Amino acid sequence: KTPKPAFRRVLLKISGEALMGDQGFGLHPPTVQRIAREVQSVHELGVEICMVIGGGNIFRGLAGSAQGMERTTADYMGMLATVMNALAMQSALEGLGVYTRVISAIRMDEVAEPYIRRRAVRHLEKKRVCIFAAGTGNPYFTTDTAATLRANEMACEAIFKGTKVDGVYDKDPVKYPDAKRYDQISYDDVLQQHLGVMDASAIALARDNNLPIIVFSLDEPGGFKGILAGEGTYTRVG
Ligand code: UDP
Repeated sequence: KTPKPAFRRVLLKISGEALMGDQGFGLHPPTVQRIAREVQSVHELGVEICMVIGGGNIFRGLAGSAQGMERTTADYMGMLATVMNALAMQSALEGLGVYTRVISAIRMDEVAEPYIRRRAVRHLEKKRVCIFAAGTGNPYFTTDTAATLRANEMACEAIFKGTKVDGVYDKDPVKYPDAKRYDQISYDDVLQQHLGVMDASAIALARDNNLPIIVFSLDEPGGFKGILAGEGTYTRVG
């Protein structure tokens, strides 16, 4: 018998780069499909799922402005990149029979629904996966902050931050084999030690609303579902 999941409603945050596979840029459809299957397996447990996907595999505002673009324009381009990623994930999930809605913080009615909080909540209640696109809709923010904002608005019980490693370490575990993983760490320790879990404004927003952040490996097959069933290794921030 599958154990009852510890969470009823969660938000999964993944970076855009998680969708590019071994390529240096853009979207790798088999990788998108693999992540979609992970989401499907959690959806089958009856967990209500929100998603926020970054855009860094396509465009980052800071990189554009460093090369002479106007910052806000570059940030809007970054937000548009997240919409492409959201559509790719929608397509992969619906290919698996999981109903979804892409909900955009910037109006583009032909492509995605506008963000209306009560409507999004209703979708979740009807077990549709809500993919929140275009970040917060504002320049100078990141999709980590968008994830924290939407998780609060949707009353999610936790943010699941999928990364390349299975939690938060005291130093980069790829570079240092003696790096130590935390089972749990406070928001303030993450901020003070400048641990690159999420950007500082996202961590602060989670802290001020007591929203736990579960950092886990998206490369571990079945990892997302395992954690919801109380298994696997991860770090709980908060
Ligand atoms: N962005 C923004 N406001 C937001 C969210 C994102 O301006 O609320 C822009 C910003 O330029 C950012 C880009 O979109 O660099 C892509 O998002 P992010 O860097 O968070 O993607 P990730 O690193 O998660 O792939």
